[in-house]
Amino acid sequence: MKNKLFFKIGIFMQLVLLIAHLVNNRNGLPIPVVDEESRLLTFLMKTYDIHFSGGWRTLDETLWGYAITWALFVVFTFLASIQVLLVKPQSRLLGRRITFANVLLWAGCLVATLLFWSLPQQALFGLVLAPFLLSYLLEWKAPKPNSTRICVVGAGVSGLTAAYQLQKQGYTQVTVLEKANYAGGKCLSVEHYGHPFDLGGHEMLAGYRDVMEMAAELGAPARVSIPPMVYDHDTRQYLNFKKAAVASGKYSMPQVVLASMKYLFLVAFPFRRFSKPSTGYSRMPKELAMPLSDWLVKRRLTALSDILAFVVKVQGYGHFNDTSAAYLVKFMGLQNWLSLILSGMGISKQWPKVFTYGMLNFCERIAAGLKVHLNTEIERIERQTGNAAEPVRIFIKGKPEPLVFDKMILCTPLEAKGLGFLDMSPEEDALFRQFTHYQFVNTVCHTQGLPAGVVASIPLNDIQRGEYTGYIKDFTDVPVSVFFSLASPGVTDPDLREKIKEVLKDIPEYEGKKPEVLEFLNQKNWDYFPHVLPEAVAGGFYDKLEALQGERHTFPPPPRWLLNALETAWPMPSDWY
Ligand SMILES: Cc1cc2nc3c(=O)[nH]c(=O)nc-3n(C[C@H](O)[C@H](O)[C@H](O)COP(=O)(O)OP(=O)(O)OC[C@H]3O[C@@H](n4cnc5c(N)ncnc54)[C@H](O)[C@@H]3O)c2cc1C
Repeated sequence: MKNKLFFKIGIFMQLVLLIAHLVNNRNGLPIPVVDEESRLLTFLMKTYDIHFSGGWRTLDETLWGYAITWALFVVFTFLASIQVLLVKPQSRLLGRRITFANVLLWAGCLVATLLFWSLPQQALFGLVLAPFLLSYLLEWKAPKPNSTRICVVGAGVSGLTAAYQLQKQGYTQVTVLEKANYAGGKCLSVEHYGHPFDLGGHEMLAGYRDVMEMAAELGAPARVSIPPMVYDHDTRQYLNFKKAAVASGKYSMPQVVLASMKYLFLVAFPFRRFSKPSTGYSRMPKELAMPLSDWLVKRRLTALSDILAFVVKVQGYGHFNDTSAAYLVKFMGLQNWLSLILSGMGISKQWPKVFTYGMLNFCERIAAGLKVHLNTEIERIERQTGNAAEPVRIFIKGKPEPLVFDKMILCTPLEAKGLGFLDMSPEEDALFRQFTHYQFVNTVCHTQGLPAGVVASIPLNDIQRGEYTGYIKDFTDVPVSVFFSLASPGVTDPDLREKIKEVLKDIPEYEGKKPEVLEFLNQKNWDYFPHVLPEAVAGGFYDKLEALQGERHTFPPPPRWLLNALETAWPMPSDWY
């Protein structure tokens, strides 16, 4: 709160300054009184014998000079003030994010002051600037230690990032319990030929700002991913993104570009708030609850169908008619959409990115600074209401005494079937039962005859047949490809391996080699994309889920994580306490 007080003092002093100038103005303008000799600009001009053309040599006498001085002061300080207002400490890691806009605005204030103002004005301005700087510094100061005992259940990216942020905010007693023998959940990598291959979460787009910021803090390097392509089974050829965007032949390129710009407008304006990863799914615009297929028709965006087939179907979010438009809009916000389109069209070469040492390595870096208990089997969780002495008791297999916590953050998938250990309330049970998921299987193979790239395979397979929908071959010189398949429940992992072999037979030679799987190296079957059906979304599912925050000392990650994308798996614990 103190920072707000200083901010208010700063605003007050600005007003005083403004009024003082208005009262004591020269030439009818609210401008500072200048003293030629003390001004830095005059000094610099004399020292370096700088000659501006025209009237700039006598800047201090001209009205323009005063006007510019004053305009710079007003524009920069007021913008900087607004910037301070907008910087919410809880939406930053420790409030330490210094944005480009911050730097520009504060630098602008300083330049305006130093170059154009006389010493008395600089001193006065310093008085105004100081409270603002102080308000920043107060956000930056080390957080107060907080001894609330917090248990995070699940060490996927949601759990790890929740614990990481809590710790940075000064919570000293944060414990993460994980049933698996590694921290990372659906972010898992394996190593072959000295390179990491991701078996789960993999790519990041420009909207993944929090992930990238954390990666920078932890020193986890990222590299630009290999460009996307599509293999068209009908024409037996590889297409680049541009050609793939019109592959069905139903729409022309201008139609696709127009629809793409329209989508951009929608996420930039009407759906801007909702399309940000950090805003969760509550207060969702009503129309986004409808199935994606209907929404595309309603908004006349059907020309995007070929691109979205890649974004939605290939990436495992199901079919257009059983996925709410909300999931697409949340994932493909302004920055993600722009970076996807610009890199797909070859205009930008910055995105998508992947972690150089793999996703698992990134998670291990987060976990290294935390208290994470692996191989922990939770038998029972008992939660009390109100001010109980032992608000949350967690019974671990093989341990006689329960672990006691004040609060619990549930970072496991919220599907009821996986939460048998939890003393669920009827409300929780009713909501958690509505979650469903897809089976998504990643198969790492030693291959030959395949070009490098992120390759989607069209026409998209019928998931009942369990073929792969695409593959990633990350390195041109390493013969390893990761096939991803969206599988219906009846399709087994061995079926999928057979399908991969079979489908590769239809693909033409590449660089003189027949596409072939030489060896299966790893396979991982995931419960992928925990989500609810469009009817549930329309029935206010996410608002009800959000309303459970804090009930019986339990905090599910805010619903923002429920889209199966890393950035939305980013809980913001400071929002909750
Ligand atoms: C194949 C695949 C590809 C993907 N590709 C991308 C991509 O390119 N880009 C992207 O952004 N996202 C991608 N994702 C999605 C991303 O990986 C997930 O959204 C994210 O990893 C989910 O993190 P989470 O922590 O919410 O859940 P999870 O990763 O599921 O973590 C939950 C954790 O809880 C643990 N747990 C469960 N039950 C218990 C229990 N009883 N006790 C203790 N611990 C328990 C689990 O073991 C697990 O570690 C992909 C996912 C998959 C599977």
